[in-house]
Amino acid sequence: MFKEPLVSRRRRNLMQSLLIAAFALTGIGMAQAQVSAPATPAKISTVYTGDVINGKKVVSSLNTDDLEPGKKHLLYFQGVQMSTGQYWYVSVIVAKGAKPGKRITLTSGVHGDEMSSVHTVQTVMGRLNAAEMSGTVMAVLDIARPAMESMQRRWPSSGRGLELIDMNREWPGNENGLSAVSRQAGLVFNRLLEPNTDLAIDFHTGTTGVDASAFHIGDMSIPEVKTMMMLYPVAAIWNNAAYPGVLHNAFIAAGIPCFTPEVGAGRRVDMDAIQIFVEGTLNVFKHYGLIPGAIGRTAVDANVYIGKNAVPVLITHGGFIELLVKMDDDVTAGQRVAIQRNAFGEVMTEYTSPTNGRIGALRSDATSEPGNVLMFILSSDTPVSGAAPYPE
Ligand SMILES: [Zn+2]
Repeated sequence: MFKEPLVSRRRRNLMQSLLIAAFALTGIGMAQAQVSAPATPAKISTVYTGDVINGKKVVSSLNTDDLEPGKKHLLYFQGVQMSTGQYWYVSVIVAKGAKPGKRITLTSGVHGDEMSSVHTVQTVMGRLNAAEMSGTVMAVLDIARPAMESMQRRWPSSGRGLELIDMNREWPGNENGLSAVSRQAGLVFNRLLEPNTDLAIDFHTGTTGVDASAFHIGDMSIPEVKTMMMLYPVAAIWNNAAYPGVLHNAFIAAGIPCFTPEVGAGRRVDMDAIQIFVEGTLNVFKHYGLIPGAIGRTAVDANVYIGKNAVPVLITHGGFIELLVKMDDDVTAGQRVAIQRNAFGEVMTEYTSPTNGRIGALRSDATSEPGNVLMFILSSDTPVSGAAPYPE
């Protein structure tokens, strides 16, 4: 019914293109917001709607200070309405420690096909005993519910016929925004995440068609972000703020240190990767005094590779792809990394690495149109022009 004026949409699209181009040229994220002051969360009260779904009380806003200490609380957060007038509820677990302390928030499901992110958060929450904790851990598991229902990356919007919108370009959202997904982001950020969080971790994975290694994306110039990322026994870090609209940058803009772990491949439960991120998250809790125990393995033990850029190799032809490298391989500039054939089996093109670095993401679908990402190479070399942002 209400349409965004075309001119402003074009201007916004132009701005986005310029920002992406700027990113491509510099390889440095635009969202350079630094954490300059401690988080000063807005005061918010807990509002119970009176509804109970599957035995869980429904809230439309939450202040974890209101919850009974020493217990785990399972709640539904009432998100944006659907076309039927029902609501997209979000599953929330709060482990409220017996004693006060840091408040750490774990999020998953901002993309709907990233199952290991959800499994990691579920596993971590299952390891917590609130009676022994000092502080609060809040887990918000299925933020882009309609995307998760069909295991696809993007939120299906009915705005102008079916559109698929990437929720991780919408943060911090707008409760009065021009799409349901913008409003969902606004509601979740304003009434759940921001007021209850001192430190945050937004879990992601590779996506449909593109597998990812186990690594972090985050800006190591922010001390708490560096501290948290290095507490994981993770073998690679993309030391970069990434781009505007992602949840971790909305947290950072609100003064809350945050980063994005990439828990391996999309769509499936990647147990090898999950183990790394469960251990690291428990290390973060131990470091900040939420739970007792000795710190386990860290990034130092994993001999972490830190790259400043995620350099893409873009697919230039349509056809069938044969990869010549594997995930986590170290590659050198000029090394052949893939060939592509047409339906006759004729080699249409060969791809080479534009940089020295390590393979961080690889196309998993066997065919492709031109323009898609074939692979990302984590690299500390000078950025290559034409680079696209990593699709976290
Ligand atoms: Zn993602």
